[in-house]
Amino acid sequence: MSGIDSEGTVNRVVIVGGGTAGWMTAAGLASMLGPTGLDITLIESEAIGVVGVGEATLPHLKQFNDTIGVNEAEFMAATSATFKLGIEFVNWGRKGDSYIHPFGEFGLPNEGVAFHHYWRKFADRPDVGPLDEYSLPVIACRNGKFQPPSEDPRSVFSTYRYAYQFDALQYGPFMRSLSEKRGVKRIEGKVTDVALDAESGHITSLTLDDGQEIEGDLFVDCTGFFGLLIEKTLQTGYDDWSEWLPADRAVAMPCESAGPPVPYTRATAHEAGWSWRIPLQHRTGNGHVYSSQFLDDDAAAETLIAGLDGKPLADPRFLRFVTGKRKKLWNRNVVAIGLSGGFLEPLESTSIYLIQEGITKLLELFPRSHDNAVEEREYNHWMDLQFERVRDFLLLHYNATERDDSDFWNHMRTMNVPDSLRERLSLFDAHGHVSAYEHGLFLVPSWIAVLIGQRAMPGGYDARVDRIPDEQVLQHLAGLKGHMAKAAGSMGDHTGFLTSHAGMG
Ligand code: FAD
Repeated sequence: MSGIDSEGTVNRVVIVGGGTAGWMTAAGLASMLGPTGLDITLIESEAIGVVGVGEATLPHLKQFNDTIGVNEAEFMAATSATFKLGIEFVNWGRKGDSYIHPFGEFGLPNEGVAFHHYWRKFADRPDVGPLDEYSLPVIACRNGKFQPPSEDPRSVFSTYRYAYQFDALQYGPFMRSLSEKRGVKRIEGKVTDVALDAESGHITSLTLDDGQEIEGDLFVDCTGFFGLLIEKTLQTGYDDWSEWLPADRAVAMPCESAGPPVPYTRATAHEAGWSWRIPLQHRTGNGHVYSSQFLDDDAAAETLIAGLDGKPLADPRFLRFVTGKRKKLWNRNVVAIGLSGGFLEPLESTSIYLIQEGITKLLELFPRSHDNAVEEREYNHWMDLQFERVRDFLLLHYNATERDDSDFWNHMRTMNVPDSLRERLSLFDAHGHVSAYEHGLFLVPSWIAVLIGQRAMPGGYDARVDRIPDEQVLQHLAGLKGHMAKAAGSMGDHTGFLTSHAGMG
């Protein structure tokens, strides 16, 4: 078979696309499989360019960076990054509301009943106060504090993790330089033709606009919304989820910083969508995500501009998308990673996480031969699960609301949600339980943060709470609240930490 070496083994990986997805994939493969002799080539076209948005991340990225040996201080200085302890949601439950989804716990981790059940029993008492007061990362966000978490599980400083907010245009080049040092070959050019093996339907080679032909065994499609290999060539098909998540446009516009960068992203709900505010070292990233069914482009740009903190640094830039995912992210000898595989609006900063998950799973299942049907099935099963989890969690923000001030909110609040989400909501409504995922994204505290933050108070609490005398629980709550406030007070300033550890000057 042409394109596959005579042994039928996979020795040559060709990545098409040099955005965040392409260079993260290159860095991941080169770091973990390069030493095994794998030949990795990345083709990108400067003329086409990258999407250039995508600045807020989840804590898992630190794990990815650590695994491939990225030096954090160098990475943060190169990408003008800030630390992120959570996301503030403004106007979601009702107009005027604000809550933080922290990257961490409420209360202290325990092996028995989750903390929010104890809190729920006494939530109506004024001395008990909001759930937020029992989360160190929430208090740190509110006060602009940051310090790296402790690894000692007995410490209150071990109750959170952190992510980064960075300049999307500087991230790709950083990963490129790391990948090239680790042996990745980069080719500048536009792929204009794709050759398929007549028998297997596998891709065998790509032709570039200068006539060069590049052969490969495994192809990674990182061509962004183009989906050049996975869709234009293999016609894999797309699961369109706009029925549940109708936002299909975004307008982005960076502005000058109005003050020291805070250690969190802000998502503010509007009439037919929401806007992001991402503080970087040198500027603030902003954008408005909205549904064109309910709002036109001019009105969306006006809302965005009206909410900027500082002087705009560019003209508004409009982007279009269809929420959903490819029917298969791995099809024959093509794996789609990044926007080519699918896109869910950036409300919880999940795209780069999904890229990372795609790379990690590919490394785990890396096919040694072109006969890879089993790996393909497992990869697709796993990635479907990840996308569906993100979809349900995003939809939760729109559905668990009391807002009735626009057609958009009435539509979102009253829609039929997928069964998987309906089941979770019913379970929570009764006694505040959240069915836990074993691992991966959005564990119990994340669901609790959004549900309680958006006023979806459960009817009851875990029956085991009643084993403990009320006085004892109340004493514990008071002690914990004081402990959290004191711990937050002892933390340093986020800006100070950026200056000393991340090249901010
Ligand atoms: P792109 O950046 O579009 O790169 C595509 C690459 O393919 C380019 O290098 C291009 O040159 C190349 N290419 C295309 N066609 C060809 C061809 N024929 N020949 C050769 N090369 C080709 N993610 C987050 O995690 N957090 C966020 O806060 C976030 N915010 C977002 C906001 C918006 C409005 C949008 C739309 C996305 C956001 N994302 C976010 C998603 C994030 O931007 C992407 O996941 C990330 O940038 C990866 O993009 P990509 O590499 O898949 O595609």
